[in-house]
Amino acid sequence: MGIPLLQQYRVGKYILGRKLAGSRRYPLVLMLEPLFQCNLACEGCGKIAYPDDILAQRMSAAECLEAVDECGAPVVSVAGGEPLLHKEMPEIVAGIIERRKFVYLCTNALLAIKRMKDYTPSPYLTFSIHLDGDRERHDASVCQEGVYDRATEAIRRLREAGFRVNINCTLFQGEDPARARDFFDEATRLGVEGITVSPAFDYEGAKRHDIFMGIRSIKELFRGIFREGKGRRWPLSHSALYLDFLAGNQAYQCTPWGNPTRNIFGWQRPCYLHADGGYAPTFRALMEETDWEAYGVGRHPKCENCMAHCGFEATAVEDTVRHPWKALKTALRGPRTEGPMVPDPPSAQPREESGTVATVPVHAIGRPTGRDA
Ligand code: SF4
Ligand code: SF4
Repeated sequence: MGIPLLQQYRVGKYILGRKLAGSRRYPLVLMLEPLFQCNLACEGCGKIAYPDDILAQRMSAAECLEAVDECGAPVVSVAGGEPLLHKEMPEIVAGIIERRKFVYLCTNALLAIKRMKDYTPSPYLTFSIHLDGDRERHDASVCQEGVYDRATEAIRRLREAGFRVNINCTLFQGEDPARARDFFDEATRLGVEGITVSPAFDYEGAKRHDIFMGIRSIKELFRGIFREGKGRRWPLSHSALYLDFLAGNQAYQCTPWGNPTRNIFGWQRPCYLHADGGYAPTFRALMEETDWEAYGVGRHPKCENCMAHCGFEATAVEDTVRHPWKALKTALRGPRTEGPMVPDPPSAQPREESGTVATVPVHAIGRPTGRDA
């Protein structure tokens, strides 16, 4: 099980409270980016591509905690840049835990062993280690050899010290289902408690665009992975219906307000993945003044091939609340991997039709712009 029972209970209680209060839109996960600076230089990363004066900026601990209070989401994902470079990060994390919110500290792990003494194990704190595949694939993905070994060593040391540890994994064009299966097996053996997986988003600023998958390829890939995973017990940190959506069995539109993003510029519109709507000065302004209907697949050109968890997990959670029996059945049988898929959503642009997963050599894969650590 990739999501602890305490967290499931607390998030469920929060959703129920929001529903009883008649809220139409409410956040589930705050994406907090207190800095864009990083100690890796992945090719095509839009965060580190900012000019030096922006990279030098930090949200203060007080600003971060104000954002947590303003937003009210029960889960906070701290990303970047590399959060462990932020001198006030222990204070930020402690403040979030004090508020009894679940914090996911997303890191490339290069500083994890050195900095772990600044944190105390807690059911509210999870180190979320960026790991995109096996040694060859991950090192190619972050454009530096040796990072996979350092990340897996950090996972071992954090687990030994009693911390909760997840991995967050982004899949690109050319991923092979059997290879992904072996990687998830290895991550499970490492003792991670959760695996967050998402298809890569085709960021505008990425140097290459042939490393990203279209919707049909994403669904084919995930069906392949789930077929390979039958009988295995990977701790995937997602709702059953989001996984079923990735396998092409649920027709969902995105819920961008489910994972609002706060960074040094303000509250990003519409979502973590692109800021076409600019920035709102407050969380309230974000929620009330954003034209949400302008975003989503078939509505906005940048959303065309998006199936990312930061947009669609909240939709799946909402569907779970509305249709608990469907969700339970899906959880028990796993995502369906055979039979017809739901039709692709309408598109304003030509979309790939083949349904095959083209291959790109692993050494040619760079980091997408704006991918969190
Ligand atoms: S479809 Fe994806 S990119 Fe578009 S608003 Fe939703 S999460 Fe953001
Ligand atoms: S993709 Fe992540 S790890 Fe790589 S440079 Fe950007 S923030 Fe750092």
